[in-house]
Amino acid sequence: MGSTGPLAAALEDFAPRQGQLIMAQAVAQALTEQTPLMVEAGTGTGKTLAYLTPVVASGLKTVVSTGTKTLQDQVAQKELPLLGRVVAPGLRWAVLKGRGNYLCPRRYLAFAAQPDLGLPGALSGLAALESWRRRSQSGDLDEVRGEAVGEALLAEITANAEQCLGGRCEHREDCPLMEARRRAAEADIVVVNHHLFLADLRLKAEGRGEALPRYQAVIFDEAHMLPEVATAIFGVGVSERRLSVLLKDMTREVGPDQRMDQAARAVEQEGREFFGALRALAGPSGHRGLGPDELARIAPLAGALGAALEELAQAVSRLEGEEAKSIAARAGAVAMDLQAAVAPAPGHTVAWIERRGRGVAINLSPVEVGPHLEHALYQEIGRLVFTSATMAAGDDLGPMIRRLGLPEETRRHIVGSPFDQARQSILYVPRRMPMPADSAFTSAVAEQVRAILRLSRGRAFVLFTSHRNMEAVSAMLTPELEYACLVQGQAPRLELLRRFVELSPSVLFATASFWQGVDVPGPALSAVIVDKLPFAPPDDPLVAARMALLESRGHNGFAHLMVPEAILGLKQGLGRLLRTPHDRGVLAVLDNRLLTKPYGRRFLKALAPAPLTSDLADVARFFAGRQAEPPSQN
Ligand code: SF4
Repeated sequence: MGSTGPLAAALEDFAPRQGQLIMAQAVAQALTEQTPLMVEAGTGTGKTLAYLTPVVASGLKTVVSTGTKTLQDQVAQKELPLLGRVVAPGLRWAVLKGRGNYLCPRRYLAFAAQPDLGLPGALSGLAALESWRRRSQSGDLDEVRGEAVGEALLAEITANAEQCLGGRCEHREDCPLMEARRRAAEADIVVVNHHLFLADLRLKAEGRGEALPRYQAVIFDEAHMLPEVATAIFGVGVSERRLSVLLKDMTREVGPDQRMDQAARAVEQEGREFFGALRALAGPSGHRGLGPDELARIAPLAGALGAALEELAQAVSRLEGEEAKSIAARAGAVAMDLQAAVAPAPGHTVAWIERRGRGVAINLSPVEVGPHLEHALYQEIGRLVFTSATMAAGDDLGPMIRRLGLPEETRRHIVGSPFDQARQSILYVPRRMPMPADSAFTSAVAEQVRAILRLSRGRAFVLFTSHRNMEAVSAMLTPELEYACLVQGQAPRLELLRRFVELSPSVLFATASFWQGVDVPGPALSAVIVDKLPFAPPDDPLVAARMALLESRGHNGFAHLMVPEAILGLKQGLGRLLRTPHDRGVLAVLDNRLLTKPYGRRFLKALAPAPLTSDLADVARFFAGRQAEPPSQN
């Protein structure tokens, strides 16, 4: 990776980067010594090549797990072909996506034979799918996903883990998922996403099969997303939708049978009772924890639904065929998950309600994911690399190490961004602002945003921690701004980003999903404005349980959990600004707790080295300096 290496010889614009070399050496050492490694690699480090190069050189069968499909595609379409060309001819790699990306021939044929005409666009969607099947090389449904083939139809023609018959399926030889798995088995490097990786881990740990081939090393990129995905994977959930899909699949694939139909009606009846009670408890937010009294109230209803499901499982298991066996097993699994969900273990798991669209669900989530990962992964394999552009709260990787339950001896590196942040950016925090809980806060935010946009001439992301504030501020400003104004929810995420660049100078008002994984290099994005520090809501059931656990261990939950996680969130949001060495712009945080509270110093330290100001005149001078620069600098 140095100035005389094969990459420099092959790439005209390759420049050796100190941080990239340091990271590559650390990864090589971790692979040799079989010791876990965590590396925060700032934007512009070139971290993908920094881990892939030693992986390729090691010859180890390796899984690269990413947080997003975008990065998964980038690794497979850009960096791996490059390394295969210039470093390791003959290198074999494969991409394995989630089940929702592969057409399931068994379900597709069943649906095509008996289409649900109540599903909008079913017939035209089937025609589009048939023509796509004939020409697709990759078999990846992302190629056809969209207006012609909507999500509802895709759910009918793909198979989730419960719906797949696996090795017992008579269509397995023509199955794109099975074919992708065969390719993965033969590859040196398999690129997956965290969801699939962790689902495989759970399957293996529970002895219920496997979704990935065996491997010798794992690289987690975008590793800051792992705790959230692991919380979902190592929990259980029973939703109205899971129940209705089970009954729908049963009707399509099995029977008719009198005892089965009678049992199904009982399941429907008990399901209405149980989910009706959940809905009544969901409250206005539709997202809340269940206390002991509430659990005691719904437990008998869950018991009745569980018994009805067991009866259904028995009724179906008398019938012939793999489909009947699968439906019976699914009914039994829902009954078991239901039983678990209403009996959380205090300090270990939390039961909570979630409203999803018009449906409702009960979930059971682990308070800590570390013990699950330790049991299923760390005890099995030592060659583990966790990397991301944002993992450290300040210069401390400890909170993320503990969150993932990694051993204390995990090696740690923070490789700074090669960008000149002190020159390329300025951090603006107004000195006089109402507190975020104050009713005057929203209009004060609007006033500040208006002033900053005047200086940046639009070209800004305005990021909010709540939909309510986003809607209020965008409604106040959109009518008067002379720039194209885009508001999250007006169009899908990628479409909004496309318009943001195309219509530049423009302004995007958005919430959580735009705080990370969004890349707009160049002057189209010259300001990132954040309304307030992104503290997790303390009444979120999982946050509350994790705080309580920390307190029970003698730690201050706010200092050890809320602050580090909010620092990471803020770094993610503000990290949207500088994507290349030529980008420049203002980072604005309109929450002056950054200046007035003792914990504010921890945030400011993490955001250094952007120079701090509370004076808009400095921001004006910063932009004037930009305008004075020759155009080539932009
Ligand atoms: S193996 Fe699973 S995904 Fe493939 S056709 Fe059969 S049921 Fe569908």
